[in-house]
Amino acid sequence: TPEVAEPGLGEQHRWSELAGRINDAQEAYYGLDAPTMSDAEYDSLMRELQDLEKRFPQLRTPDSPTQRVGAAQRVTDFAPVTHLERLLSLDDIFSTQELTDWIARTQRSLGEQKASWLCELKIDGLAVDLVYRGGRLVSGATRGDGRVGENVTPNVLTIAGIPHQFAGPDIPEVLEVRGEIFFPIEAFADLNASLVEAGKAPFANPRNAAAGSLRQKNPAVTATRPLQLLVHGIGAHEGMNIERQSQAYELLAGWGFPTSPAYRVVSSVSDVLHYVSYYGEHRHDLKHEIDGVVVKVDDLAQQAQLGSTSRAPRWAIAYKYPPEQVNTKLLDIQVNV
Ligand code: NAD
Repeated sequence: TPEVAEPGLGEQHRWSELAGRINDAQEAYYGLDAPTMSDAEYDSLMRELQDLEKRFPQLRTPDSPTQRVGAAQRVTDFAPVTHLERLLSLDDIFSTQELTDWIARTQRSLGEQKASWLCELKIDGLAVDLVYRGGRLVSGATRGDGRVGENVTPNVLTIAGIPHQFAGPDIPEVLEVRGEIFFPIEAFADLNASLVEAGKAPFANPRNAAAGSLRQKNPAVTATRPLQLLVHGIGAHEGMNIERQSQAYELLAGWGFPTSPAYRVVSSVSDVLHYVSYYGEHRHDLKHEIDGVVVKVDDLAQQAQLGSTSRAPRWAIAYKYPPEQVNTKLLDIQVNV
């Protein structure tokens, strides 16, 4: 058996430093909706921590930022809600080579059964978990640590486009709808202008505007913000006869839920790569920001077979586009946006 190298003091020190910086960044991002670093910088710290733990698995503690969803426990203004099913994060990758490898690996795990790939946009907002009983909305919550989120039901009820109730034949007794709440790009500049006018701090980007607008103590403030939802998954469900995730989207669209017009189900690696490159070029034609593409195994039985880790499903992957560079000619420097 190959010998496992012991981490030296230098590596232990670097681990603590990275975990500390990531924890601080998460607190600012998830807790205060005011990031202290760019997403690219955050992603590279996380990647370095993952690589370090791969080399020295002894460093990987159960509460490492690589092992959990969202921030560590923190104080919040909202009551806790336990999700019916865990609401996980996504593993991410940064190159088309890694994407091709992930598809091949996932297909290998499924053996003879051929997978279909559900390609979606990775909307840059925040996840919301909506529980419907008998077609009536009974709870809306943020993701939190994946098991327990924040109860934002009164805020959710103010968002146009989120059904309070839906009807029809075959309404499931229980249905947990997951989706992304986003702040439309075209309304973002106006929001910041009005915040500045009122002497308040503007938001760093539409993602933080979405999170800051949903997580308001006073739902009347949320009601003034033009938030929108796009559905991207389901959790627990009873009385719903479905075999594929895309089939769930079709049913949800029929019941009046906002589903993305951009998702596609494809069967080949080249079609997945084509989807990725198409939206790499057309990401600015959308009404919301995206930071990548999510590729999912469409078949629900195959999803169950692949299962999840403590922080992410094995049946989905987020491919992240490289951070965009803007050349500001005036200063002759490059800044990340
Ligand atoms: P993530 O945002 O990379 O991926 C998981 C989330 O993607 C899901 O919870 C869901 O809300 C969302 N999502 C959007 N479209 C989706 C779709 N079609 N299907 C499924 N899910 C979809 O992971 P995360 O754990 O929430 O956060 C990590 C990311 O957040 C980082 O990579 C970074 O970009 C950002 N972040 C930044 C800072 C900072 O300081 N700048 C701090 C923390 C996190």
